[in-house]
Formats: sequence, C-alpha cells, structure tokens
Amino acid sequence: MNTKDFIDIEEKFGAHNYHPLDVVIEKAQGVWVWDVEGNKYLDCLAAYSAVNQGHCHPRIISKLKEQAEKVTLTSRAFRNDQLPLLTQELCEITGYQMMLPMNSGAEAVETALKAVRKWGYKIKKVEEGKAEIITCTNNFSGRTISIISFSTEEQYRDGYAPFTPGYKVVEYGNIEELEKAITPNTVAFLVEPIQGEGGVIIPPAGYLKAASDLCKKNNVLFVADEIQSGLGRSGKLFAYQYEDIRPDVVIIGKALSGGCYPVSAVLSDKEVLGVFNPGDHGSTFGGNPLGAAIARESLKVLVEENLVEKSFELGNYFREKLGEIETAHVKEIRGRGLFIGVELHPVAGGARRFCEALMERGVLCKETHSHVIRFAPPLVITKEEIDWVVNLVKEVLQMP
Ligand SMILES: *Cc1c(COP(=O)(O)O)cnc(C)c1O
Repeated sequence: MNTKDFIDIEEKFGAHNYHPLDVVIEKAQGVWVWDVEGNKYLDCLAAYSAVNQGHCHPRIISKLKEQAEKVTLTSRAFRNDQLPLLTQELCEITGYQMMLPMNSGAEAVETALKAVRKWGYKIKKVEEGKAEIITCTNNFSGRTISIISFSTEEQYRDGYAPFTPGYKVVEYGNIEELEKAITPNTVAFLVEPIQGEGGVIIPPAGYLKAASDLCKKNNVLFVADEIQSGLGRSGKLFAYQYEDIRPDVVIIGKALSGGCYPVSAVLSDKEVLGVFNPGDHGSTFGGNPLGAAIARESLKVLVEENLVEKSFELGNYFREKLGEIETAHVKEIRGRGLFIGVELHPVAGGARRFCEALMERGVLCKETHSHVIRFAPPLVITKEEIDWVVNLVKEVLQMP
C-alpha cells in the first residue's frame, strides 16, 4: 500500500474532523519520522508538543514495554504501585502539594474546572450555582462541550449549542478587562501563559504577574493551562516562570508521557484538590499503572537530559537564525524556547502553502490560525539540525 491508498481508506471510513498534511508516517525516532514511501522528515510540530522528549525515546519505550508486561490497568477501585510514585515525583519536580491524574488534556481541564467550582462553593462560599470562571479571547483548552463554551473560535462552537453557562471571556493580555470582569462570584481565571493554538501568542510583559496579583487580592484561583507550553517547551519547566508567579492550579498533559500514552494531570495544593472526596470525580484509565510508569520515565528524561535548558538555548539560536532570513513574507518571529511562531503578512497567501513546500523538502510543520507557521520540534534537536531546517525555511520563504 502506498500513501494514496492509506489516505483513500482514511477519507472513506474516518470522519473528516482534521485536515492533515498528506504524509503517512510509519515510524519515528528522535526528531525524525519516516513515511510509508521511505521518505525522511524532521518533525517540527512534535505532536503539538507531546513528544518534547523525541519520538520513541528508548528509555520511555523500554519502560513502556517493561510495565506492559506487568500490569496495565487496575482502575482506581484498587491501588497500583506506579501511581503513588508518579504523584510524589511530579509534586517534587513542580513544587505542588497534590496532583490528580487524567488521560487527555481536555479531561484535565474539565477536572480543573470542576475543582475550582467546588472550591468556590465549599471554601470561598459562593452561592450555589453562581460560580463564574473568567477565560481569555483566542484561548484553546480542548474540545469538550464545556471547554468550547468559552471558546472565541466560531468554528469550534458552530453546531454545538446549547453551551455550559458560568464563563466570562476577557481580552488576552488586557489587565483592565480582567479587573472589571471579577465579581464576588468569580472562582477562577483560566489562562494559557503562552497561547499555542492561538498562534504562539506571548502576553505583554507583566500581564501574568498583574493577573496573579488581582486574583490574590480578590480570592480568585489563578489556573494556568500549561498543557502545550509546559514541561520544557518554552525554555522553562513552565511558561508562567517567565514572570514571578505561582499559579494556584496548573494543568499539564501532552509531553507528560513523552507522546507514548495519553497522560494528563492537575497540579495544585491541598486547599484546592482537597475538595474532592471519593466518588466526586474519576476516570477508569486515569492514573493507570502503564501511563504512570511512562509519565515517571518521561519526567526523568526531561530532567536528566536537561531538555528544559536545551529548549531555552536552542530556541534563542533558532529564532536568531530565522531572523536572518531575508524575505518579504514575514511579519513577526516570536516565541520562547523552542516554541516559535512565524507570523506571515496577510498577502503572503496563508501559511499552509509554505508548510506544504517544507514537507516536500523534508520538514514537517503545521500552520496555526492560517497565517502563522509554528516551529516546535522535539527538544532533543541539535544545532546542526536547526541549521538544516533554517536553510530549507529560507528556501521556501524566498518563494514569490
Ligand atoms: C492540546 C491542548 C489542550 C487539549 O489537550 P487534548 O489532549 O488534545 O485534549 C488543552 N490546552 C492546551 C493549551 C492545549 O494545547
């Protein structure tokens, strides 16, 4: 079977809720992937930052195999010997008192939304049914009905009404709007410290700190969605660390398992996660021993291979090299660490054609918001590999 055969089958039997580049990948290692025709590509998307540790990291795969042969699922009806160690190790690395494990990112966001509402009623004493959560324009936190209820992307909501009430949306980066939106019923402010799907948008300097101060002053929980920006992507363990703050709640997923398994988590302290009693919330697969063993090893790889520091240094290098390209198409190059957005002028004809041209040359990346090319390779990329990518980027950005 060749590329076209696979695509035809998927188009016929699979729902068309994605518009992928037409490359059919059959294997991967580190920053490289190979398609069914034997072509090799450097992956500059890293599965939306889920494979920060690189594809099929030998240590993570070895743990996966080892744990798969022992026990994969107990459900939380019984305990297992991996989850306790993951809870401890994750809390030690991140400095939070507690964690709650889930699977996908959206589930962890839902968990955080439930936690802050319950905290609002039980601890802050908001009147039952009145809790409000403030979110930002241009946000992306997943695809469930409640999460898209506060999306500002028309397509994400189209056809899915009625929506979950209890959300207010304020402009990302606008501290006055946030201040005005807070009421005695506000329980939380949910924000991405860097908006990934929104186009690698970095808020104005001081915004996160000011927002965090406002939250403290008003007894509102500051919730950071670090599912994409966290775990090294931004050049720090968490993107919120670029400002001197400590969110009350941090949501992680994606790279928590090095791309080997869906594992997500909500991190917070006893005051918030302590609101859950047995039966209040759960998941059959959340905290399963296979996922927990994989997440433990993925965190160790992140720390022991200094991937956070590498992301910081190589990100600076990557952006500097991109900045040297002479082209009329680029409006702005921005990012932190290896989380890079290249925004094109509207007249450039959209980012998709450049992504397709890069694919033909052996680099995989994906447009976000039609006019931004995101470069977010696995954090194990080398300087030489960056040079190689930048040369090809230069070639395509110099197309008419
Ligand atoms: C990807 C992402 C999510 C959702 O994660 P899923 O695993 O796709 O459900 C939530 N928030 C942010 C910031 C993300 O990038």
